[in-house]
Amino acid sequence: MHINHPPDQGPTSAPYPQLAMGPNRAKLLVVDDQPINIQVMHQLFGADCQVFMATNGARALSVCKDKRPDLVLLDVVMPDMDGFEVCRRLKADEATRDIPVIFVTAHNDAAQETQGLEMGAVDFISKPINPAVVRARVKTHLTLKFQSDLMRRLVFLDGLTGVYNRRYFDQQLVTEMARSARSGAPLALIMLDVDFFKRYNDRYGHQAGDDCLRTIALTLKDCLRRPADVVARYGGEEFSCILAETGFDAALAIACELEQRVRERNMAHDASDAASVVTISLGVASAGGLACRDASELIAQADAQMYRAKTEGRGRACGIDLNP
Ligand code: GH3
Ligand code: MG
Ligand code: MG
Repeated sequence: MHINHPPDQGPTSAPYPQLAMGPNRAKLLVVDDQPINIQVMHQLFGADCQVFMATNGARALSVCKDKRPDLVLLDVVMPDMDGFEVCRRLKADEATRDIPVIFVTAHNDAAQETQGLEMGAVDFISKPINPAVVRARVKTHLTLKFQSDLMRRLVFLDGLTGVYNRRYFDQQLVTEMARSARSGAPLALIMLDVDFFKRYNDRYGHQAGDDCLRTIALTLKDCLRRPADVVARYGGEEFSCILAETGFDAALAIACELEQRVRERNMAHDASDAASVVTISLGVASAGGLACRDASELIAQADAQMYRAKTEGRGRACGIDLNP
């Protein structure tokens, strides 16, 4: 059985599932309070998948958050937190909701099975397990998981640059603002625009312009490496970055670093009045907690700062701290 995850989860990676053995093996989490049952599953899948194990519900939840398995085989009856509760929590959390869950149980009970499926599990397997059947089912669900991963990536990625697209950005900004409103954690938004890009196209051609946008996207992505950071193409030659849990000073420092890094790519731009190389202008708006409830307002604020950077000479970052 060859069950491999598509290479790299990053948005710029080729979106084709690879079915050859390699470092991107499917990640399987086996949860059972009886180590012997975990061992059985490990023997069954250890050669094909990367197998993680948890002997209680709390541990299962933390492995799901850290390792992002592609599939969870979840025991129903466990002390402390049972499998149903684990599943309920996985499905309630945005970060883990898309991980498919298969219940594994010694009870052959239609009511229980229905309950499990209704709470979002994809399948039910009864113990003692039949190895061939379990392998076949796991393979099916991993294939479906990879297909839906692929679809999510295609729907949310920008075709030219490979970073997230506007659709994903809009959705994620609302999500992060709601999260910040609940937790009070800081949040910052950067809007940025390439300087004199019309002239760049006129001078070097549209193809070179496209290459330039790709290079800028990669540079931004390279700089913003925290899992919660979002780099998106907002439209045309404008990009946006969502920085969760980042205060105003840190966000402005990051914006300055982005400016510097793009400048350091040394893409010649004879026709620019700002520099001899391609530069960007950035606007930062910072508003954690309840400081700003409206995504379009936050975007407008960052945009206004970006235009301030334009009028102050381009190739720079300006910012506003909306926190009281
Ligand atoms: P400013 O410094 O004030 O931002 O000037 P600008 O020339 O960059 O701004 P303007 O909005 O006048 O021009 C944006 C240009 O970006 C025009 C458009 O052709 C180009 N552009 C937008 N999307 C793409 C794209 O996908 N590829 C290429 N090559 N060019 C693009
Ligand atoms: Mg523009
Ligand atoms: Mg521009």
